[in-house]
Amino acid sequence: MHNTDLLTRSRSAVWHPCTQMKRHEKLPLVPIQRGDGVWLYDFDGHRYLDSVSSWWVNLFGHSNPRINAAIIDQLGKLEHVMLAGFTHEPVVRLSEKLRELAPAGLGHCFYGSDGASATEIALKMSAHFWRNNNLPAKTQFISLQNGYHGETLGALSVTDVALFKDAYGALISKNATVPSPDSRDAEPGESEEDLALRCAAKLETHLQNYHTHIAALIVEPLVQGAAGMAMYHPSYLKHARELCDQYQVHLIADEIAVGMGRTGTLFACEQASISPDFLLLSKGITGGYLPLSVVMTTDHIFQAFYADEVTRGFLHSHSYTGNPLACRAALATLDIFATDEVLNSNRIKAAFLNRIAAPLREHSRIKNFRNCGMIWAFEVETPHSDFAQRCFCLALEHELLLRPMGNTVYFMPPYVISENEICFLVEQTSKIINCLT
Ligand SMILES: *Cc1c(COP(=O)(O)O)cnc(C)c1O
Repeated sequence: MHNTDLLTRSRSAVWHPCTQMKRHEKLPLVPIQRGDGVWLYDFDGHRYLDSVSSWWVNLFGHSNPRINAAIIDQLGKLEHVMLAGFTHEPVVRLSEKLRELAPAGLGHCFYGSDGASATEIALKMSAHFWRNNNLPAKTQFISLQNGYHGETLGALSVTDVALFKDAYGALISKNATVPSPDSRDAEPGESEEDLALRCAAKLETHLQNYHTHIAALIVEPLVQGAAGMAMYHPSYLKHARELCDQYQVHLIADEIAVGMGRTGTLFACEQASISPDFLLLSKGITGGYLPLSVVMTTDHIFQAFYADEVTRGFLHSHSYTGNPLACRAALATLDIFATDEVLNSNRIKAAFLNRIAAPLREHSRIKNFRNCGMIWAFEVETPHSDFAQRCFCLALEHELLLRPMGNTVYFMPPYVISENEICFLVEQTSKIINCLT
């Protein structure tokens, strides 16, 4: 199939996600034939360095031989079986492995199919827990300003994105937001830690006033991805943990984007030395191969549902819950972490990128250059109001997949990126920025 043929057919038959389809009259879709490592290839032999890990999911490269082999092996045994009333080895092994690796106390794994379904599960489980504990008024949730937790209706109710609120606000229940400790909002002379304290104090005031109706606080630990890679000090999480305990509110750590080593530790919560009541994982959990999400929770919460009555049990299911192929991809992904000293080699790669990117950091049109683990971001001062789209198109011409959010350019590359590829990424980005400022 030729590029142009595929484009026309895709525009007509496929409704692409979060896209004004009319834009594709002018802006071509990028048809991808195959992937290898950090590279995506189209049908004409052009290549693109996938610096956003295909919407933050890929960890160990496209077409990774070890993950491929695990899935192929599983295909020969069992592609799927329902998880209600049945079980299988991959889901048991994955649950035990995650329990061993996750922050202390998170011993029970409930599975969903994607990130948004993990958010739905955590919200429902939290409120149902309070109901089972004779506190049925606790049905509301709080989240951070500019937070993102998915786009189904429950998840949207804790997602603070103006575009979505305007379009779908009438459909969703109203939940409050509290100030985000986004380091870009620090006052002159205020440290990131001071800002975290200031925001924690606002959280405390909110909890004091409303805790009798609040089931849970949901946060993206350390980095708010969709907010434009907003980074913040771990002490905020420490305070949030203490305040949630004090006011009988669950803490939900949405590590869908930041988990699986992205922030430099396997889980971002580790950097604040806290255990949440719910830990959400998806995106990277299968190495970016197959949809799978997991909600990990404590024995305390599990026991509140453990009873003779059906109605005290957790009433939620998805057809593909705990799919064996996805679980095997996840096990292969965790196996790579275990055998390849991934976190250590990422530290070396991150230091290398930071050295190479010094000219970007000092660029007069670049502000707030920041880094956390394998995430980098900065704002670009540009005369172009359509900067994001221009940057995306120009990047393709420079063999890069860059997908800025507004004026924020970010890198979130697969962990298999090499030093040569890092140099290429930074050099090409510099050229692109110079064209657009
Ligand atoms: C991507 C994301 C989600 C939603 O996951 P989907 O698989 O896209 O539904 C939720 N929370 C965070 C932090 C995310 O980055």
